[in-house]
Amino acid sequence: MADEIDLANDLIANEISRALKEIRQQSSEAVGTKFCVDCDDDMPIERQKLGFKRCVACASDAERKKLMYADE
Ligand SMILES: [Zn+2]
Repeated sequence: MADEIDLANDLIANEISRALKEIRQQSSEAVGTKFCVDCDDDMPIERQKLGFKRCVACASDAERKKLMYADE
C-alpha cells in the first residue's frame, strides 16, 4: 500500500515539474506583470509566470466587458 502511495507521489511530482518546465519555456518571452495593470494589486507568482497582466478579479471583469462589447 505504501509503495503505491510513493509511486503516486512520484508520478504527481513528475507531472508538476514537467508542467512547470513547460510554463517556464512558454513564458520566457511573455512574462506577466508583477502588479495588476488595472488595480495595482500584487499579482500571484503563478499568474506572473503564465504571462497574465491582470489579477483574477480584474481578468474576469475584463472578460465580462469584452463579452459586453462583443454584443454591440
Ligand atoms: Zn486587478
